Amino acid sequence: HKAKLSRQHIEIYSHSDRDPAELFSLESDLRIAVANKDFVLYYQPKVNIQNGSVDSVEALIRWMHPERGVVSPGDFIPLAEETGLIIKLGEIALELACQQAKAWQDEGHPLRVAVNVSAMQFHQEDFVEQVLDKLRQTGLPPKLLELEITESVVMGDVERVKDTMTHLSQLGISISIDDFGTGYSSLQYLNLFPIQTLKIDRSFVQSIESRTSQAPIVSTIIAMAQTLGLEVIAEGVETEEQVDFLWKHGCNLVQGFIYFRPMPAEQVISKIIALPAL
Ligand code: C2E
Ligand code: CA
Ligand code: CA
Ligand code: CA
Repeated sequence: HKAKLSRQHIEIYSHSDRDPAELFSLESDLRIAVANKDFVLYYQPKVNIQNGSVDSVEALIRWMHPERGVVSPGDFIPLAEETGLIIKLGEIALELACQQAKAWQDEGHPLRVAVNVSAMQFHQEDFVEQVLDKLRQTGLPPKLLELEITESVVMGDVERVKDTMTHLSQLGISISIDDFGTGYSSLQYLNLFPIQTLKIDRSFVQSIESRTSQAPIVSTIIAMAQTLGLEVIAEGVETEEQVDFLWKHGCNLVQGFIYFRPMPAEQVISKIIALPAL
């Protein structure tokens, strides 16, 4: 536990010339930030390359640190998970996403927003109620909410996971499996659970043109999704070659720097409208 903590500090504070005692303040900073809700969501569009439209957006959390500026989730999500702060953080993300999606809908831009949900958050007994509360509080229709869940969620009590997913799905919320292919979990659940979409992990996508190509894994996931009647999206797409490969194999949804980087909410609508035909 301690070793992990100090690794976190080194990553985030290594370039600091501040007092060494402050190296130990990341956890307390994070606690304060969670209490103050010092977070914003950035949004990255998911693009349909068949018709050049934006399918939906993914909400990605950012910590607005008073001195450090914008801190990426890679620098604090692991610590949040170790300390249990991820539960409160997940609630903040869900709330911000629902508020924003509702605001867009009210402005005449109904855009589905996908929120990342950690395993710990999903396994909370009252998770469905939490989600329902946010929908009620904001007035967001459930069909404008998607939850991205990693394979690690699925490991554990299969029946309970299935109940939770079924409940969410019956409400009209869509569920996607994030980082698909990295989790070593059973493929059995794909048929058992009400899942709409598989997200092919960036590590596979980025290897497409490399010498140690995992392209066959990408094409296999696409084919499998099609066979099972699931949507499939590739994340972390950066190059034309990757897009060509995905297109050729029938994956029509693409998310990545090649089209959009995650951006503040204020920029989303204008950038989407300005999207040139692909
Ligand atoms: P993820 O869910 O797999 O999200 C994709 C990550 O890849 C994002 O990093 C995104 O900015 C980045 N990305 C998108 N396109 C490209 C690309 O073309 N190239 C490259 N190199 N990267 C790309 P980000 O925003 O730093 O988030 C990292 C991870 O933090 C996420 O991975 C997710 O696991 C977690 N995370 C983010 N927001 C939340 C949240 O609200 N709740 C929870 N529980 N986890 C979150
Ligand atoms: Ca995600
Ligand atoms: Ca990923
Ligand atoms: Ca992830």
